[in-house]
Amino acid sequence: MISKQLFPILQCPTCRSRDLFITAEAVHCGSCATHYPFHAGYVDLMPRDAQYDYVSKYVTDEAELAAELDYRELAPPLLAAGVRDRTLRRLMHWLPGDVVLDNGCGTAKHAVWNAAHVRMMVGSDPATLFADAAVERITLAQADSRSLPFADNSFDKAFAIDILEHFPLPVIDQYLAETARVLRPGGRMLAFSNTREMSPIQPLINVSRRIGRLMVRAGVYDFEREARRKSDHVKALENWEDVLAAFQRAGLRPVKVIFWNSLFTTFVEHVLMKLGEAALGRKQHAGRGQPAAPHNGNNAQSADHGPQPAADGTAREIRARQRMRARLQTRGSVYYALMAVTLLMELDLWLFGWMRCGSYFILVEKQ
Ligand SMILES: [Zn+2]
Repeated sequence: MISKQLFPILQCPTCRSRDLFITAEAVHCGSCATHYPFHAGYVDLMPRDAQYDYVSKYVTDEAELAAELDYRELAPPLLAAGVRDRTLRRLMHWLPGDVVLDNGCGTAKHAVWNAAHVRMMVGSDPATLFADAAVERITLAQADSRSLPFADNSFDKAFAIDILEHFPLPVIDQYLAETARVLRPGGRMLAFSNTREMSPIQPLINVSRRIGRLMVRAGVYDFEREARRKSDHVKALENWEDVLAAFQRAGLRPVKVIFWNSLFTTFVEHVLMKLGEAALGRKQHAGRGQPAAPHNGNNAQSADHGPQPAADGTAREIRARQRMRARLQTRGSVYYALMAVTLLMELDLWLFGWMRCGSYFILVEKQ
């Protein structure tokens, strides 16, 4: 969906002119004569002359990742995504008049979950792996965060969830400078990301990881998809000082910080949920008349069908998620059980949020 409220805040991402006119097919720049076409549910506002060194994996491998990320259908905000979303809502204090940018929205799930609380929610991303609900309900722009297609001071609020850890340092600086440019003075931004710092309670957290690894070895479940999702994490902001310096360079002043020491979270993710996923994935596998193959039975399958991009573990995890989503459509016992687990994970923020570690939420304000 593209809200008409978007048009007054647009500027040409190629030449930065605001001399634009809109037709049924495209946004046209009167200065550099570039046409930015409308597509199904989004508008292509990528800068046309840009030569960038860095291109996101989500752009270069878009087609391949589309199959694997299982992105079109959104579940309700639960588990780690639920904790992020609840914290986003708590720290951003949405107002009915807010114009908000989800800068690097990915599927735009957080934009969808929060759109009802604000006047206009805009999701922007160079890759177009948007969820169906995002295409229906929020304003989507295919855009590059180094040259955003929005005028100065256009947004009341912006957020960046799981973004900064993907970028090299010069891109982080451009990303934050552009976000600051499009925020109005006094406008606020929330970022959630990770540095390389360890939690002071890491030895305790590692107990869950160790249990998880034992179960992997026993073939109960595996982490292929997880590993792939994290494969392009650069973590150029290596420690907390780096984070503060980067926001300061962009003219963004810290207002509030919450660290996420993932004691309960790691137990939930590495033990509790993985057991659940393995159980659900197996059940459906068996239900389709195939034996539930153990993980290391994968080799024989690969020989028959050639290289499999989505390996057995990945396929099983996706099946489990799909099955889970189907159940969550009705707000029954599974939904409330997962909400309880989400709150257990959030307890990490309430108990240990003051304790400096690698994962952080930072709320900043444009001066
Ligand atoms: Zn132009």
